[in-house]
Amino acid sequence: MDRSEPGDQARLLLARMTTKTSAMEPAIGSGRTGLTIQSMVAGAVSGIRRQGPKGQWLPDLSKQRLLLYLWAGHTSERDRDRLLSSLICEAAGLWPDVWRPVEPGSMRKLLTLIIDEKMNPTICRGCSGKGQVLYRGEWVIHGPCRGLGKYPWGTRRLAELYQVSRKTWKKKYRSRHQFLMNLVNDLESGALRDLREQL
Ligand SMILES: [Zn+2]
Repeated sequence: MDRSEPGDQARLLLARMTTKTSAMEPAIGSGRTGLTIQSMVAGAVSGIRRQGPKGQWLPDLSKQRLLLYLWAGHTSERDRDRLLSSLICEAAGLWPDVWRPVEPGSMRKLLTLIIDEKMNPTICRGCSGKGQVLYRGEWVIHGPCRGLGKYPWGTRRLAELYQVSRKTWKKKYRSRHQFLMNLVNDLESGALRDLREQL
């Protein structure tokens, strides 16, 4: 198989993602070519594009950077900054009027929490993160975590990390945090969809 084809890279990447193993490990079967997950993802995401204002196709940087960060171990300070800048741009364009003016500092802080949570989710102990449990010899959805295999970070933790009282968190930041979490999740699933289209 020619691993330089974007479709192959995307396929390998998606296979890796569904196994829920560490994104930092070298790619399976990479032996001879020595391709790592990092270079594989970089190749695969380069095909993720969006249409610009004049109809031209441009790299979709938010999605590309998100996948590189969440899935490919591109987690340097610089990668994080670039990702946050892209996400702030996205969010500012969609920010509801009631929350305007946009506060980039606050947005950055909230997005940092979201990226951190996605990198370090609270794994469900009941199913060890699998989202499924064996019941009478069959795999069934684990009810308590609704098959997600993880739990969202709680109000207490988020408020502490954001350095506000729980009351302030609930009153002002919780809804903004949820809005940004949805945005990041949408971008992530959109990026995965785009990858699949390359297959
Ligand atoms: Zn569970």
